[in-house]
Amino acid sequence: MCWVNSKPLTYWIDYSFNHVNNPALLETIRKDAPDLLHVGHDLVFTAVMGPVYFMGRFDQYNLMSPEQAAERENVLRTYVRSLHDAGAKIVIPYIISVAILGNHEKREGFWRFYDNWDKYYRFGLPEKPKRDPVEWTYRRYKHQGNPEFMVYDVCIFNGDWRKYLKFTAEHAVSLGYDGIFVDVNATRCECEECRSLFYQYLLRKKYNANEMKSLFGFNSAADLRLGGREEGLLTLETNLFRAEGFTSLFREIRERIGVNRTLIPNCWPMSTISGLLRRRGNGHDPEKWASAVEWIMFEENPGPGTYCPCGQIIYDNILQYKYALAVGFKPAVLNYWVDSLRGRLANIEALAGGGGAFVQPGFIAHGNASLIRQFVDRNQTLLEGFHERADIGLVFLIDQHIRGNVDHLTQVYHLRRYLSDNHYTFSLVTHKHLVANILSRFRALILPEAKYLHASKVNALLEYVSRGGILVTTGETGKFNEKGYPAQKPAEMLSQNVELGEGRIFSMRFEKMIPLRKFETFMLEEETDRLAFLDKCRSAHENGLDIPRGTDTLRRILEETGVKPIAKNAPITLRINMFDKGDLRAIHLVNYALGNGGFIEAENILLRMNMDRIVQEVKALTLKETFKLDFTCSDKVLEIIVPEVADYLLVSVKFS
Ligand SMILES: [Zn+2]
Repeated sequence: MCWVNSKPLTYWIDYSFNHVNNPALLETIRKDAPDLLHVGHDLVFTAVMGPVYFMGRFDQYNLMSPEQAAERENVLRTYVRSLHDAGAKIVIPYIISVAILGNHEKREGFWRFYDNWDKYYRFGLPEKPKRDPVEWTYRRYKHQGNPEFMVYDVCIFNGDWRKYLKFTAEHAVSLGYDGIFVDVNATRCECEECRSLFYQYLLRKKYNANEMKSLFGFNSAADLRLGGREEGLLTLETNLFRAEGFTSLFREIRERIGVNRTLIPNCWPMSTISGLLRRRGNGHDPEKWASAVEWIMFEENPGPGTYCPCGQIIYDNILQYKYALAVGFKPAVLNYWVDSLRGRLANIEALAGGGGAFVQPGFIAHGNASLIRQFVDRNQTLLEGFHERADIGLVFLIDQHIRGNVDHLTQVYHLRRYLSDNHYTFSLVTHKHLVANILSRFRALILPEAKYLHASKVNALLEYVSRGGILVTTGETGKFNEKGYPAQKPAEMLSQNVELGEGRIFSMRFEKMIPLRKFETFMLEEETDRLAFLDKCRSAHENGLDIPRGTDTLRRILEETGVKPIAKNAPITLRINMFDKGDLRAIHLVNYALGNGGFIEAENILLRMNMDRIVQEVKALTLKETFKLDFTCSDKVLEIIVPEVADYLLVSVKFS
């Protein structure tokens, strides 16, 4: 199912080492219990070092004796039960899929465990691997603050490692946990096994010997290597190959722990373009992973809301939510830089964005978790099983930037921002939706600079147009096929202004398409320093942001084709999502305008939409109360006046 929402969860994450036997923690959770609690290494068998106690740091640990491990099992069972009893419905601990810690020469860390492996068979440990764990690894670097202690990156295709990982997950759920979080999921391994598997992968993808040579420069299997970050098609195939490796790992873990249990892998952050570019080739691919998991995490730094007094600098997670909705997984959106206010807004984003969760860093009872949870419980019928309703489809193809077509990615980010600012209803469209029957739900489709397209996708797009669709493209869309060869006819139509059947293609240079802003947070380098981020926003504001400049061709085209913004009078800080189900429509209004310690209310918003059904009732729901709204419906246009939006308003329309 595509673009179908689900009710969001409230979700807290905290890796502190002091959670076990901690009454204060239980008290905090009882006060504001989230649905999901994500803890750290509160395990007997950690992924990074085996059965160890950590004393506040990874390089300070004790290997548990088998007797201590058995005792620890009991302690942790009680601990997990106490978290459930305090109100958390789902509790998951941490494992990492790509690294172990220690020192293989000094036999520290994972090696101390390996040398004592036989002692732990009673816990269900698989047979002791014959190859020393150092042979599972492909690179190492010093642990911060202790040069004797190292982080070793492990090949994810290594069978011994996969067996051990699956065991840690299985043992975790035997302690009462409801699933597992799997961190990092990125690899740059080029070991012999990886190369051999990659070769088989390329053969499966039907690259012949000539193509291996002309496309990748491989004269024989011996030449074969995996791609780095900027090697075009080789990077893309490397990424897909590694993504398949992670997908099969997740699937195997889920099969082991039970498919009804939760597995949440961490993926790339999407808040900056630079963050996505850095990770090209590493195996991150939510579209592949989603075939094996229900949830995927995006770990972002900024929290949502405005970042300057004029309200022009807005950070939101709308791209993440819309992408997840399109692909069909639940996003766990972690935002580190949140206070109670931005945390409230981040939770609201999950409500309005179609489900998933805002992942609150720290076990801190702001009151947001219970507020959201109660709202969800009261209004389940408005939050689940609805289809995103949108006039516009914005096509986002992750293969484009991974293979070096960065313009596509950049334009998608600008366009997403533009559509949100201007209150158009839009969905993201991914590769799997490039089928004429699916595309026909959109009045207009925006396809920015999609240089590389398979002929079947080109045909689907042209069929969409000939059935009456409006397709807006930029630059060299459709110039090459998926292998990078010049595209065959009729792909050139995608970069022309032509009428086709009942519809039309508009093609233009991106610079002419929409007005651009001088400053966008997504154009920044990935920033890990909050104060530096705030500084950049402040100086951008001081240098004068004004309003965006340039021609607005897109607005004219949309207007001509009858696609209008859904709100009049609304500031750009108000962002709107719309969903339909049967005789109900749910319109979510989210206010990103933050002032001194509170939300700056948006007032007198006029919602306006075409309507060919009879409207029975219009209600408005804030997080705390529900009231009726006045509406008029004439000449097939529904108008609703929204007096004010503080943080969030859900407008529900009932048809008869
Ligand atoms: Zn490898």
